[in-house]
Amino acid sequence: MRDYPLEKTRDIGIIAHIDAGKTTFTERVLFYTGVSHKIGEVHEGTTVMDWMEQERERGITITSAATTCFWMPTYRNNDKNFEHRINIIDTPGHVDFTAEVERSLRVLDGAIVIFDGVAGVEPQSETVWRQADKYKVPRLCFINKLDRLGASFEKSFQSILERLTPNAVKMQIPLGLEEKHEGMIDLFSLKAFAFEGKFGEQIKEREIPENLKKETKKLHQELVEKIVEKDAILMEQYLEGEEIGIDDLKKTLRKAVINYELVPVFCGSSLKNKGVQFILDAVIDYLPSPLDLPAVIGHDPKTEREISIIADDAAPFAALVFKLQTDPFVGQLTYFRVYSGTLDAGSYILNNTTGNKERVGRILRMHANAREEVKKVYSGEIAAIIGIKDTHTGDTLSSVERPVILEKIEFPEPVVFMRIEPKTKQDQERMGIALHRLSEEDPTFKIKSDAETMETIISGMGELHLEILVDRMKREFKVEANIGKPQVAYKETIAAESEAEGKYIRQSGGRGQYGHVKIRVEPKERGEGFEFINSIKGGIIPQEFIPAVQKGVREAMEKGVIAGYPLVDMSVELYDGSYHEVDSSEAAFKIAGSMALQDAVKRAKPVILEPIMKVEVLVPEKFLGDVTGNLNSRRGQIEDIGERMGLRVIDAKVPLAEMFGYVTALRSMTEGRGNYSMEFNHYAVVPNNITQDIIEGRK
Ligand code: GDP
Repeated sequence: MRDYPLEKTRDIGIIAHIDAGKTTFTERVLFYTGVSHKIGEVHEGTTVMDWMEQERERGITITSAATTCFWMPTYRNNDKNFEHRINIIDTPGHVDFTAEVERSLRVLDGAIVIFDGVAGVEPQSETVWRQADKYKVPRLCFINKLDRLGASFEKSFQSILERLTPNAVKMQIPLGLEEKHEGMIDLFSLKAFAFEGKFGEQIKEREIPENLKKETKKLHQELVEKIVEKDAILMEQYLEGEEIGIDDLKKTLRKAVINYELVPVFCGSSLKNKGVQFILDAVIDYLPSPLDLPAVIGHDPKTEREISIIADDAAPFAALVFKLQTDPFVGQLTYFRVYSGTLDAGSYILNNTTGNKERVGRILRMHANAREEVKKVYSGEIAAIIGIKDTHTGDTLSSVERPVILEKIEFPEPVVFMRIEPKTKQDQERMGIALHRLSEEDPTFKIKSDAETMETIISGMGELHLEILVDRMKREFKVEANIGKPQVAYKETIAAESEAEGKYIRQSGGRGQYGHVKIRVEPKERGEGFEFINSIKGGIIPQEFIPAVQKGVREAMEKGVIAGYPLVDMSVELYDGSYHEVDSSEAAFKIAGSMALQDAVKRAKPVILEPIMKVEVLVPEKFLGDVTGNLNSRRGQIEDIGERMGLRVIDAKVPLAEMFGYVTALRSMTEGRGNYSMEFNHYAVVPNNITQDIIEGRK
């Protein structure tokens, strides 16, 4: 039997810009939920407090990819009948890990977005927000740090409204700011609350201060109007002057949040223990349960037929793997979300991505400071399997009888690479294992070895991404390594059509070789990739040799033609050739294909492509000139200069090659006050003068 009905389950994430306070907030959440969940067993108020002290000392684990906790809304006075299970899915904070963010966004149903109440919407908040838009994640906002000097709820709220969404709506206003920050006024109930006790665990009702009464009334009105607009019947009642009950308002708001028509904004300070409990209430009140969401569309891996997957325990099992994590105690944990059906420990499942049947050993649910072994998991749940092999982030697991592939998570190709070399012989063995593990966990981290030098090359989404992975290798796997300079992952392509012939014919002495092909190459749009077209008719080249031609073409493309970078975005049409009854072989056709490709590319105006980054820089006004000048000198294109929270905001597109070491440069230009973020945007053709440098750099 299910221990929690689906409608009392929430699968959510906490999203924030680095330093906005996600860790502190999550800690408080696990803390309060732990306490409230224990209340059934521990009756004495003081005992609860002791338990809290101990928890604090031991430190709460929040490194898990998904943590399960329980919450009863504060306005239900800890009534067990209203207890909900909340699964918190970890989302990384840095944009270098956009793929990781996407991977986690894919499996969560709603999110809390945390903002720093002094800085408001920061560069990366916007990036992550857009990603959440892509997956249509309903969200709540929490404006944190209102106890800090310079904090402004109003300004932060405005920055959300202007930069992120016009659907933002105030649910609270702060009761005091900076060191006077005590709590907040709830614009629904028109009550003020302060937080007392060592951990803010005592929520006390206060009088609304005289000077805030008018404002509160006005904002209450605005909130009610924003909500009734979303429901024709309520609107009518409202216009007729009827009082709309709070339950109706909440129900309508819930619907609007789930449809992403409204985004409620709350406030407080997690460090000073103010307001976190109300966010948990809001998670239950406004964020969707798995039942509230539309069916997920999957595909039959063989027939491509669409399969609609709904959260139903009686349906066949289907789940998505969203994270692999190495655990020091139990080994590899494969985190998954169940979209339909149930899964029993000890049963067999199908990995639809690899086609392998796997036995599910043990299943774990992770709590703040405990692991719980479970025999069965149900639709909508999140858990981890121990000990299945050859499974990666993004794979779909299903029952053996009903194969299905859920929408695949797409990851961008790495844009930066570097050479890495183990320091000692011992390190060498361990490095292989470590790199393999890390790349399994993170699909945007790739490893390969240079065919000529035999060196190991790692690639990823940015300088910092690779630095962090090398650091993890050192700490978690005790591998010391020397690393090379980060380098740009250029690509090659063609700018024109051309044709070429490849002939590999050896017919003197011994067994002969005969491969002969004619191909036509054509450019494709950026990002369209490679297409091989076989137009051979009437067996001019026997069917059995065609794959060999394609293989030869692929290998030549991988090696590149002008500077040694892989060729992308082009089609290759095999349209003519010839063969020899005796001498033709796959090997000969492969070589012919490869020769033809190289020749064709040389005649097709080959060019080099480089990754262009979307860069946002925030600086105080007085540094604006220096910083834009510097971006120009880095071949940057300034697209917009705006203003936010008293700072100037520069939006630019800059080639990645020019951005190495930018952190240091920006710091020294701005007396340490500048800030920037960047993410991969697109590949573009490198200007002529630089092409030559790149070609020579490789030689
Ligand atoms: P994360 O990087 O988003 O996980 O942020 P952390 O939770 O580690 O917080 C970053 C810094 O901000 C830490 O020094 C916290 O103590 C501090 N911080 C977090 N929340 C608050 C808050 O509500 N008020 C104040 N004044 N500081 C906070």
